[in-house]
Amino acid sequence: MRYISTRDNTIQYSASQAITQGLAKDGGLLTPFYIPKLPGNALEDLKAMAYQQRAVYIMKMFLEEFSVKELTDFANAAYGPDKFDTPAVAPVRTVDGSTHCLELWHGPTSAFKDMALQMLPHLLTASLTKTEEDKTVCILVATSGDTGKGALEGFKDVPRTKILVFYPKDGVSQIQELQMLTQEGGNVGVCAVVGNFDDAQTGVKELFSNEEVRQALAKKGYLFSSANSINWGRVLPQLVYYVSACCDLLRDEKLAPGQTVNVCVPTGNFGNILAAYYVREMGLPIGQLICASNSNNVLTDFIREGVYDRNRPFHNTMSPSMDILISSNLERLLYSLTQDPAEVKGYMAQLAASGRYQVSDRIKDRLQKRFKGYFCDDRETQRVIRSVYDRFGYLIDTHTAVAFSALEQYRQETGDNTPAIVASTASPFKFSGSVLEALGETAPASGLDALDQLTAKTGLPAPAPLAGLRSKTVRFSQVVEKDHMLDAVRSLLE
Ligand SMILES: *Cc1c(COP(=O)(O)O)cnc(C)c1O
Repeated sequence: MRYISTRDNTIQYSASQAITQGLAKDGGLLTPFYIPKLPGNALEDLKAMAYQQRAVYIMKMFLEEFSVKELTDFANAAYGPDKFDTPAVAPVRTVDGSTHCLELWHGPTSAFKDMALQMLPHLLTASLTKTEEDKTVCILVATSGDTGKGALEGFKDVPRTKILVFYPKDGVSQIQELQMLTQEGGNVGVCAVVGNFDDAQTGVKELFSNEEVRQALAKKGYLFSSANSINWGRVLPQLVYYVSACCDLLRDEKLAPGQTVNVCVPTGNFGNILAAYYVREMGLPIGQLICASNSNNVLTDFIREGVYDRNRPFHNTMSPSMDILISSNLERLLYSLTQDPAEVKGYMAQLAASGRYQVSDRIKDRLQKRFKGYFCDDRETQRVIRSVYDRFGYLIDTHTAVAFSALEQYRQETGDNTPAIVASTASPFKFSGSVLEALGETAPASGLDALDQLTAKTGLPAPAPLAGLRSKTVRFSQVVEKDHMLDAVRSLLE
């Protein structure tokens, strides 16, 4: 499989080049040249396999230069029992007869980022070797919460890597901050930035594009890289769990051969739902893709009107991982729908210049055949948490609740009750305060107390990595002004 840029498909890259490079030099996203079809009998074989084997099978289709032996080692290390608290890795829980919740939060940080960030370090370090790059990679991450911790856990003590995470001082939850400040590992750094997420993100982008810094680092044997979802090595592992969920439903006879299933995903940067789209392109029996947003509903409007417009107020919601107005991975979808890099480049230039673009009627048509968009606000999010808990005894987090609301709206509007997979992206314990309030409780001021109170209220245990936070030592305390982020890089690399 060769890879191309979404803005220029004349230059081809190998998979390991795409993963090492992260982003194309023209600013486009590196993307498979085409999406391969799953062979006709593959689902039969995959049904009988464990999650790790399914991962090898699917990833191999996109990573020809990697051997089955290599990928098997990666999958066993990434998704082993020391990392995930269930052998199923990504279990499907049937909530009612036609609604199946795909739980993606059984990994070390209790959010779905683990599904990809446990695999990415293996793919990246092997890609360095394959491309004969002998530098040590320095991963820089700006996080609004879940990605930072996921990346720290994935890269901790991985040879030939260092990782530094910047988070906005007052822009993450207490639990998220504590998760990061207690991070273990000899190659990790965590630094708070005075400002909001945009300040941290802008600072990281400036470090990436500062040629002087880049050369100074190269002299010391370092190479900057990114672990955010523009890297193909983060999207690919996400295809696996949608294939796996279809296999589980077929195996357990909750889906008949030939029957289709809809997929509903709480969406921010468009990485997770893009993976579901690619799996549909591979020929899996997926019907509609339902894109769920919170009050930052730029994608809902895009799907309904064909106009992407980020010129709107930004809302801080109780589903913060979806508080985003520029969904980077949408560019990969535009490439897939247009098959025309010049058209994609045009839209992206308009987005950069005016924050807005309108796709052609042909593209809008294709988009609407595959995607439906719905959104809900915080009040509705809490109503849904309560209602799902009261009706089914099933506790969901704020992000997953947005998806449940979208699915409910879709079913009401269309009358289509096709079985659906809902992606559940975080443990409810990660957002204990909002979940407690949804259940009618008063949330305590301390995040750790909120964990205990949620256990007391529901009788459910908190995931071990969250419950264990109380006894962990805080290791990091550096806080920098936004124009001093380079200081943190220097101290990590000394
Ligand atoms: C990152 C995240 C999302 C959004 O996923 P995208 O791939 O960015 O669309 C949703 N929910 C949770 C809990 C997340 O951490």
